Amino acid sequence: MVSPITWPYFNTSDPESMSACFTTGGAEANLSAVLAALARSAPRWLEQGLRGLDRPPMVYLSEAGHDSFFKLVRIAGMGRSALRTIPIDADQRMRVDRLVERMRRDRERERLPLVVVGTAGTTAAGTIDPLPELRAVADEFGAWFHVDAAWGGTALLSRRLAPALAGIETADSVTWDAHKWLAVPLGAGMFFCRHPEAVARAFSVRAGLAPGLGNAADDPFLATFQWSRRFAGLPLFLALAALGREGYEELIDRQAQLADRLRDALEAAGFEVVNRTPLPTVCFTHPRIEEGRVTASAVAKAVAGTGEAFIATARLREPEREVLRAGIASRRTEEGDLDVLVRVLLEALAD
Ligand SMILES: *Cc1c(COP(=O)(O)O)cnc(C)c1O
Repeated sequence: MVSPITWPYFNTSDPESMSACFTTGGAEANLSAVLAALARSAPRWLEQGLRGLDRPPMVYLSEAGHDSFFKLVRIAGMGRSALRTIPIDADQRMRVDRLVERMRRDRERERLPLVVVGTAGTTAAGTIDPLPELRAVADEFGAWFHVDAAWGGTALLSRRLAPALAGIETADSVTWDAHKWLAVPLGAGMFFCRHPEAVARAFSVRAGLAPGLGNAADDPFLATFQWSRRFAGLPLFLALAALGREGYEELIDRQAQLADRLRDALEAAGFEVVNRTPLPTVCFTHPRIEEGRVTASAVAKAVAGTGEAFIATARLREPEREVLRAGIASRRTEEGDLDVLVRVLLEALAD
């Protein structure tokens, strides 16, 4: 039996109240959010493009947000200067005071505050922006609130982890990739939006050749940038049929517990964990790295060279530094693997 996924964003009794489509990935879903926001906030954009707007539109993203936004402001014709990157705090979360400051300045300069992006699960450190506060700021300035939960969105399937994403249910739109932490093959992004009419305005066209079903809810070529499309939802459907929501929840909870265990093991072995998140991403450093005696990437390379374990590195800000990063997202990871990792790390540091 396939158990239905329920989360606050869906109103299953009224499927018309939202638009939900598979995309090629999170990058396309993030682009869709900006285009839908333009279609709603600046209807003249549909006919005249950005020339039709009185004020240049702005997108607000934290410094730890995803780099796909740098690309999409170019694709949307808005240019790099339309993307405001807002400083983060020591926990890698967007600083709300700095966001408000920036938006006030932009308002004084006759800019249009188009989209505030909250990141739920940053790529490097797995941290979660203060979503309820960002919603309130977006409201104050009349902006669209988008949550980029490309990999972190999966936490919603865990009753233990979901509260960390509180506020996501208030978003105008959400990005969530099935091909990240839901572990299905690449090419299965998802875009959810509370304003199906804005999505339809952004994407629907009358196609001579494709009579289709004629409405965006049933005919995804009217609700996405894509035309011909792959059956991206099939792998997720099959995974859900096999695992069910409960099966996913078990996997996710287990990975979060393994990450907690890894944090303890690292600290017991003299490492310092530098990120705070309930999600299974562990960024850490070691006194020898901090003292400059060895770099994080040299340690990562030595670890990979053993063939016993793999560890990534990540560049964090506040303070700016390179750290080691373990992401636990495989259902095959076991406690013994963590012990191997810690041993191999210590050996790499001793060399
Ligand atoms: C991976 C990721 C993206 C980009 O998604 P793709 O599926 O690679 O296009 C966007 N945002 C975040 C937070 C991500 O982790």
